[in-house]
Amino acid sequence: MSERTAAPGGLALIESLVNTLDIETGRDSLDTADGRARIGLTEDELGGARELRESLRATLLAHAGHPPHRSVTPLGTLLADAPLHVSVDERDGSAALTPADARSLSSRVAAAVAEALVDGTWVRLKACEAETCHWAYYDRSPAGRGRWCSMRVCGAREKMRRYRAKGP
Ligand SMILES: [Zn+2]
Repeated sequence: MSERTAAPGGLALIESLVNTLDIETGRDSLDTADGRARIGLTEDELGGARELRESLRATLLAHAGHPPHRSVTPLGTLLADAPLHVSVDERDGSAALTPADARSLSSRVAAAVAEALVDGTWVRLKACEAETCHWAYYDRSPAGRGRWCSMRVCGAREKMRRYRAKGP
């Protein structure tokens, strides 16, 4: 849906997870083995993954100043028990929070959030404000005030809508 390049670092995982659901058509790529494999998801994590996906979407909408698209479990609640490790590189002393269980989606998502916090990129991962879209995208605009996943698609559609609403 977007011509943008993937979000940096671990945020790419969160971006792809949120974008497994096409809100307009209801098509959910987590329904397919291929779609699940793309984010390394096992079938028994499926229910949790869908819940996590919508909590993430609500958080990404909040990053852009929008209310949640529906009621969701707070993201902090879902990630509260996600196991993380502090790993330290002995050669240069650099440290990072890493997933304690590399197979657990919530653990990988929590590590991605921690990494993005350090990099200062977390608040730039947003969800498109168009109601039929709410696609996750990484806002690369200089001022960090982008509103749509794609100016060409959702931005243009919104402008057209406003133009029509104004009338002749
Ligand atoms: Zn959009």
